Amino acid sequence: MKLFVSLATIILLGAAVNASEHQEFGYSGHNGPTHWDEFSKTCGTGHAQSPINIVPGKTVSMNHQYDVSLHEDVHTTAKVIDNGHSIKVTPKMGGTITLHGETFKLLQFHFHGKSEHTVNNKRYDLVAHLVHQNPETKQLAVIAVFFEEGKNNPMLDNVLGNVGGEIRVDPQDLLPNDTVDYYHYVGSLTTPPCSENVQWYLLKTPMTASKSQIEEFRKYYADNERPVQELNDRAVESN
Ligand SMILES: [Zn+2]
Repeated sequence: MKLFVSLATIILLGAAVNASEHQEFGYSGHNGPTHWDEFSKTCGTGHAQSPINIVPGKTVSMNHQYDVSLHEDVHTTAKVIDNGHSIKVTPKMGGTITLHGETFKLLQFHFHGKSEHTVNNKRYDLVAHLVHQNPETKQLAVIAVFFEEGKNNPMLDNVLGNVGGEIRVDPQDLLPNDTVDYYHYVGSLTTPPCSENVQWYLLKTPMTASKSQIEEFRKYYADNERPVQELNDRAVESN
């Protein structure tokens, strides 16, 4: 009998440990960014974390011209979900970008209720992160598109009006006309597991979203942005 009780206790303890392991990260309180090292050590100990504050006056010029060609102009169906951290759009067949000769495929894009990266400490109203991966090396490259309040964006209407459903999208509709001017540096995922060696390309030209679209997004997520991290010995390149 004693043995039975002990076993039951062990099983119960085991279940309790599993429950906390599977708890989701959040943006405030005991699951907030200062506790993310409990989900992944890298979030607390990494020295090349994202996001960061970009100081345009302190950027270095690119020592070689990155060949960033965006080929996102594909019409595809995409699933729109609320994944508990953001509104995420997963195209069935995304476009690609070419970075210095390597092709990265678009895996998904999602939004943050305020921009995660700041420019001279300015936080934009919204940001879209287009997450790409080189299928061979598995390396990630994220294109960040800032949004400021202005004209309505039809793509956002399509996304926000169909959370939980499927839409037709052309990811190109998320990009400003000028995709040639950007900041580049090497950072991390901005959510656990905070994995490093992520290539970040932050487009300098913002897109616009209407006030009501920004408010509509923030009904889902008003503060799903990680605080800015130390730059440490990294350089931010600008062209
Ligand atoms: Zn993101």
